[in-house]
Amino acid sequence: MHNRLGTLHTPLGIRDLYDSVCFCNRCGMCAPVCPAYAADPQESNSPRARNQALRLLLENKLKNNTISKELNQLITSCTLCGRCTHVCPGQIPTAEHILELRRLLKLQLLPRSLFKLLRLRETSPRLFYAIIRIGLLSRRIGLLRLTACMPGFAWVKHLLQILPTRSIKPFAAKDQKRPTLIYLPSLEAEFLFPDLAQHVYNSALKKYRVIVWQNTTCGLFEYLYGDVRSARKILRRLILQHQQTANTQLPILTDSIDVYHFLKRSAQLFHGFTAWEEKALHFAQCVRFVTDIFPQKPSNLSACKKPVLFMNSAVFTEDSALQTKIEKKLQTLFKKNLVQCGYKDACIAPAGYGFIKGSREAVYNLQAVRTVATHQAQTVIVLSGLAQLELNFQLRQFYPTAHAQHIANLNG
Ligand code: SF4
Ligand code: SF4
Repeated sequence: MHNRLGTLHTPLGIRDLYDSVCFCNRCGMCAPVCPAYAADPQESNSPRARNQALRLLLENKLKNNTISKELNQLITSCTLCGRCTHVCPGQIPTAEHILELRRLLKLQLLPRSLFKLLRLRETSPRLFYAIIRIGLLSRRIGLLRLTACMPGFAWVKHLLQILPTRSIKPFAAKDQKRPTLIYLPSLEAEFLFPDLAQHVYNSALKKYRVIVWQNTTCGLFEYLYGDVRSARKILRRLILQHQQTANTQLPILTDSIDVYHFLKRSAQLFHGFTAWEEKALHFAQCVRFVTDIFPQKPSNLSACKKPVLFMNSAVFTEDSALQTKIEKKLQTLFKKNLVQCGYKDACIAPAGYGFIKGSREAVYNLQAVRTVATHQAQTVIVLSGLAQLELNFQLRQFYPTAHAQHIANLNG
């Protein structure tokens, strides 16, 4: 199987990559909603320019081995949020195009040491688990700061900054007999934010008999920062693991909106391999987000200081049916106390942009804080643990009256 996609499942049907990119008619309607363009309104930062770059590359008008500064910026400044697709008349999947560009040009976005560490979760989960435990212990006794001084490990400093300082108990779960739900904790919930994983697990227990797939990769990391082949291999294993459970219809619960979007589009990775494509389609239908297990009225609403702002940052937001549903639900729950983060407002950069090389993430994150301050929001509801960590770090520095919390915490 190939190391890139070549064919995309777009919102308007299955298209060859070149056809998909050629459907961009350069109208420019997408630019006003693009956070990268808002941060630096130059044509080379617009979704239109990103699509044209891929088209030129596919037409052999850009040489594979010459990555100019502009081309590099055009690729690395895209947060893969997919907002452009949402407003585009042709529903052009620019985020997917950018991923294909990265793959074609073999761009390595994450710092090498972070990439290698995160790959261990797939290749050697026990070693990964041990390193994380040692890392957390070294953090408690102050040794991790020394690692942050080593060349190539600057991301450790960022991690130390965003992690809460209080000590957090590790996530503990007990598998139930005859399960009715699988909980697949995201990496950040399981290791960086175990209280979130515990909270989701406890909430799920009120309605379901839960089994937990701990330290299990889903392929999102490989899809965004690694290679498609590895992402496919991981997904295939996950699909088989799901099939081998007693009930192949078991819902799979995730606490990360990014994981949710990725798993929902898993069939795209198996295009052309009919049997696997069908299995992936069935698997995707079983994926659930935490809000799906909420009761009509979640129990912890009173803990939210008003006004409340919903920040729906995620990768591939064009699959926004769930986000729209969540927004409507929040409107019903908070009524006039919910202020909305419109498309022109900036959202926190999704899926680990805080760890990525360069300084653009700082610009995006400041835009997000400005949005919170403009609305004078006190609580910001986000849909992933990483978004909560990143945003709380920014808010502590620049707008400390507000606090971000994962939507799972509404159901305490
Ligand atoms: S991506 Fe869509 S909205 Fe943007 S320029 Fe192309 S066709 Fe227009
Ligand atoms: S995916 Fe997001 S950041 Fe990338 S071009 Fe589209 S709107 Fe801009």
